[in-house]
Amino acid sequence: MKIAIIGSGISGLASAALLARDGHAVSVFERFDTPRPLGAGLLLQPSGLEALDAMDLRQEAEARGAHISRLIGRTPKGRTVLDLRYADGRPGDKGVGIHRASLFNLLHAAALKTDIAWRTGLGVRALHDLDDRPRLELETGEMSEPYDLVIAADGTHSSLRRQICPQARDPVYPWGAMWAILPDPDERRDGMLDQVYRGCSVMIGLLPVGDNPADPEGRPGVSFFWSLRGDAFPAWRSDGLEAFKARLRALWPRAADVIDPISDADTFSEARYRDCVCPSWRRGKAVLIGDAAHGMSPQLGQGANLALCDALSLARQLKDDAPVVHALGRFEAERKPAARYYSLMSRALTPVFQSGSRIIGVLRDALMGLGCRLPGIRNWMGWTLVGRGRLPW
Ligand SMILES: Cc1cc2nc3c(=O)[nH]c(=O)nc-3n(C[C@H](O)[C@H](O)[C@H](O)COP(=O)(O)OP(=O)(O)OC[C@H]3O[C@@H](n4cnc5c(N)ncnc54)[C@H](O)[C@@H]3O)c2cc1C
Repeated sequence: MKIAIIGSGISGLASAALLARDGHAVSVFERFDTPRPLGAGLLLQPSGLEALDAMDLRQEAEARGAHISRLIGRTPKGRTVLDLRYADGRPGDKGVGIHRASLFNLLHAAALKTDIAWRTGLGVRALHDLDDRPRLELETGEMSEPYDLVIAADGTHSSLRRQICPQARDPVYPWGAMWAILPDPDERRDGMLDQVYRGCSVMIGLLPVGDNPADPEGRPGVSFFWSLRGDAFPAWRSDGLEAFKARLRALWPRAADVIDPISDADTFSEARYRDCVCPSWRRGKAVLIGDAAHGMSPQLGQGANLALCDALSLARQLKDDAPVVHALGRFEAERKPAARYYSLMSRALTPVFQSGSRIIGVLRDALMGLGCRLPGIRNWMGWTLVGRGRLPW
């Protein structure tokens, strides 16, 4: 088939590599002049690692990243709020913290080995003739040739979502995060996702990510994030870096050591996320995948993993000789139970870690640590963490 993929993020690149490998004629349309990674360090879960395994990329991802065996969240006084170990799930389960550029480079290199037509610097404005032979209207006004299938992998802020699913809702979460990937003073290549919370309004995290392609000295990196209300970003910048460093030192000296060498506040990037609900991911011969279909808050660290699993599932369904619309139906049926589960859980959990509520914070600190010690709840939390959660529909 002639397939157009819109977006060269995680789901777009993985789909491009898989579909071109299967012999389809793939064109990738990317708004940026050069495909490039966006966003903070990522935690790859066993589900995402299995998808990378099917692409023969798992070993390299593990070699470039940092092994994560545990997630721990505490209050500034050291009281444990959350404590989950991968070993409590299936034996051999682990997470891999990875610099987004490392994952991007792996997927990009796999895609470059195939015969893909790259159309970079070309944003897509609209889709036409979805029931027949879809065509893309580019931001330049130009119309593309017709395709047999269009895959919209244009991320959480997708402008094509409503063309495929007019009933979609995608409000921006009130809270976002500041993040940066910095040299890890401990030079770790394994460890844990370490978080500190004060009430629901402060959440700080450190995730080792292994290789740091941006570091000229080749030191391993650590992804730092600081939760912030979306409307508080300007005040954070105007308060200045030194005030932030002092505040951080009072809350968590180890995280303060990580950001201490920074002298430019622009080292930090701002991230906002959406809560996307799409009753249908497909229309005619066009389909949404990754964050375009089910963008959510990164609270559970599942978005990139879901995106990789989507790409694998779609490629497998398209291997059949059945009409493309049937393959898209089977893809949606296969992937929706997992996406719905994580959307629901992220929606429920986000205010527990990112909101102004005092009561939720007190209850969380009192009860969550206890839940982590009760076998039934602990198993359910572990099963959710590793990416195996799904609703029955
Ligand atoms: C702070 C933060 C932390 C996160 N942490 C984790 C984590 O630990 N684990 C995890 O699994 N996930 C995490 N995520 C989520 C993860 O980043 C996303 O789920 C993942 O990137 C989704 O991949 P995607 O391919 O759907 O979209 P993206 O990777 O966003 O790619 C979309 C691409 O489409 C292009 N594009 C957009 N519009 C157009 C257009 N009109 N025309 C052409 N091109 C277009 C963009 O330029 C981009 O290249 C995190 C997200 C954030 C913000």
